[in-house]
Amino acid sequence: MTLVGSHTRIMGQATATTPAPPAAARFDRGEHLPADYRPGRQIAQTLTIAAALAALGGALAARARPIDWLLMPVFFVVANFIEWMVHRNPMHRPLTPRIMYRNHAQLHHLAFTETNMPITVTPELGLVMMPWYTMLGLFLIASPILLLAGFLRGPGLAGIFLLAAVAYFLMYEALHALYHLPDATLDRAGIGRLRAFRRRQAHHRRHHVLGRMAHVNFNVTFPWMDWLFQTTEKPE
Ligand SMILES: [Zn+2]
Ligand SMILES: [Zn+2]
Repeated sequence: MTLVGSHTRIMGQATATTPAPPAAARFDRGEHLPADYRPGRQIAQTLTIAAALAALGGALAARARPIDWLLMPVFFVVANFIEWMVHRNPMHRPLTPRIMYRNHAQLHHLAFTETNMPITVTPELGLVMMPWYTMLGLFLIASPILLLAGFLRGPGLAGIFLLAAVAYFLMYEALHALYHLPDATLDRAGIGRLRAFRRRQAHHRRHHVLGRMAHVNFNVTFPWMDWLFQTTEKPE
């Protein structure tokens, strides 16, 4: 997802191509970051919210029955669907309110195209990471599943879902940020040599082709729903 904003997509249009917005050619990343923006502050905000939600999840999960923990993998699949659905729709379609569309399709995707993926200075992470309000919005979108888990199995299972959702969100943010780091940085960290990482990064890079962004490769973490809904597209 995008940080100052978000992402979006659509099914059934995997063969259509939308003309690239001309604005991409003259996009200045620096113009779209507040002068006082500090990536460390945004990372701290994200981790603080995640820690608060995880603490709530942990307190609830302490009341879970052992068998409830077996549903943890199922919740990861559910999170993968939410990732695909939110990225394909509010992030890539101008649905009201348009904040996710503006931040993701009209900002993140113009700042980073498939031939221009890496950040050049650390503050550009502000155009990659999600702002705190988008993060809270995503947990709000997922909250009916939390309530359903609580209704069906009690607060313990709701807590397990919340823990899974926090872990999944942090994985999404970390992977997405890594996809947008320079190769030299990734190689220095030893991540650039990992073929599984490069495969996922290539999947996301293909999503950054402006004419394809609203149609394919909506999963940023594991491409499970892109496979299931046939929205996977390999690089040409
Ligand atoms: Zn996108
Ligand atoms: Zn991206």
